[in-house]
Formats: sequence, structure tokens, C-alpha cells
Amino acid sequence: MDWFTEILHTDLAQRLRVDKVLYEGQTEFQDAKVLSNGRLGKILVLDNVVQTTLGDEFVYHEMLAHVPLFSHPHPKTVLIIGGGDGGLLEEALKHPSVEKVTMVELDGGVVELAKEHFVELNQGAFDDHRTNLIIGDGAKFVAETDERFDVILVDSTDPHGPGEVLFSRGFYADCKRCLTESGILVTQNGVPFLQASELAGSISHFRALFNEGSAYVITVPTYAFGMMALGWATDDKSLRQVDIATLEDRFKKAAFATNYYSPEVHKAAFALPMYIKRIID
Ligand code: SAM
Repeated sequence: MDWFTEILHTDLAQRLRVDKVLYEGQTEFQDAKVLSNGRLGKILVLDNVVQTTLGDEFVYHEMLAHVPLFSHPHPKTVLIIGGGDGGLLEEALKHPSVEKVTMVELDGGVVELAKEHFVELNQGAFDDHRTNLIIGDGAKFVAETDERFDVILVDSTDPHGPGEVLFSRGFYADCKRCLTESGILVTQNGVPFLQASELAGSISHFRALFNEGSAYVITVPTYAFGMMALGWATDDKSLRQVDIATLEDRFKKAAFATNYYSPEVHKAAFALPMYIKRIID
């Protein structure tokens, strides 16, 4: 194999040169590959879709974690659904106020691959005393748990196969049930230029269930073909309006370095281009 072609869209595809195949096989649920590319470093691929690369993971993991975690006044408990590579877990644990992160990942095989091949990404997060890793279906977990969370982060695959249930009204309703007062739900919601209906569906569910359903945008090179949307749902409308001075104070107090997130980028991310506003409105 000298080139990997991603199969996610019917009429557009991205190709990444493969310098080395570090792993190729089947987990209990998915086809998995770990590839290396000269520019991106190691790449995790599940069912022929790029999940994360060492080269650009910082954009996605920082913005999925820090926008809600700095918007919430004092986040203590976090739930991650999916996130098997551990990159999001590592970012969430950087917040001093966070006392526990429960991570519900369907596929133990992905976690094993992450521990072996992506230590640069998860840097021992799986072993942190605040981490509670559960191998299981995220939809089943939120339907059954009596735990409550200040922030729920859905770091799922796209709505095909095992990830499909994580874009349903029922799943979002169960997430709402599991949120504390002023809790925030944020979701991986694809590239609206090509996956408009996925975003429109999630936001319409949010608006039926919460006081506020919106989205913010980031640009991740290997989530190809335009901006990526992260869905935002909460009953506390003030959280999206947190002023820049407060964000700057919280960011300064947290005292960790970033490569993408900043309070200014946080605020600007909610300024949606018209074509995306039209999709969600
Ligand atoms: N950053 C990637 C993206 O934006 O597409 C997602 C990365 S992460 C590897 C996605 C994870 O979601 C995978 O490890 C997959 O096993 C997990 N997943 C898929 N369906 C799930 C479900 N129903 N419950 C829990 N985890 C699930």
C-alpha cells in the first residue's frame, strides 16, 4: 500500500501517502489501520475513515474539550462518549477543576491500539487516577447510568455502523437526562459542506430538547473538504455568552499551553458562515 484513499463521501475522497503500515486488522467492531505519513505522522483509520492524526489532532481535541470546559464555571465531572484514541481524554484532564472523566468507548481494540501506537496523543491519560474507562456502548450507558455530568463530549465516528445511534433523538434525550444544571453537551458533527443533513438533524434534536442548540466551527486538515462543526446543546444560554475577559482569566488560571485554542478563537468559533447558519436555522 503506498496511498490510502478515505471512503467517506460518494463523490469526493482524500488520499494520504502511506510510508508505513503499523497495524492493519479487525477489532470486534471495526476495520482498523494505523498508518504513518511523512507530514502527518501516525494516522488512525477506522472503517476506512480517518479518525485522528498526530499532525492535526490538536485542533479537534483542544476545541472539543476547551470550549465547553472553559464555558462552564466549574466543571468537575466529564463524560466522553467514544474517543478511543485518548486524545480528548488527555485534553479534558488538563483542567484543574475536573475531578473525574468517565470515558465510554465501544471498542476495546481501539483503546489497545491507542495505548500501543498513540502515546504521543494520550500521554498516560488512561492511567490518570481521575479516569474511569468503560468499554461499552455509549447510548446504552447514558440510557442506564444514574451518574450526572457537567460536560458531555461525544467524540464518535460518523453516523454509520456503531456510531449511528449517537446521532439519534433518543441518545440526545438521555444525554440531557445525565447533565447537571447548566450542563453542556458538545458533539462531533462532521463537515457541513458535505454532511449538512447530519448537522441539521443534530441541531433540530438539540432545539427540541434543550433551551439552546447551536454549533461552532473549526478547521481540521484531515477532516477534509471544509470547516468541521461541533454541536452545542445546553439549557443555560448564558454559557455561550461568557465574555472574553472571563475566558482569559479561566485560561490563565488553568495554566496549560495550547496550539489552537485561545479565548479569542473560542469566541470566534461560534461565528458561523452563512451556509452553515442556513443549515442549522
Ligand atoms: N475524532 C474522530 C472523528 O471526529 O471522527 C473520532 C475519533 S474516536 C476514535 C471515535 C470512536 O467512537 C471510535 O473509537 C469508535 O469505536 C467509537 N464509537 C463508535 N460508536 C460508538 C458507540 N455507540 N459507543 C461508544 N463509542 C463508539
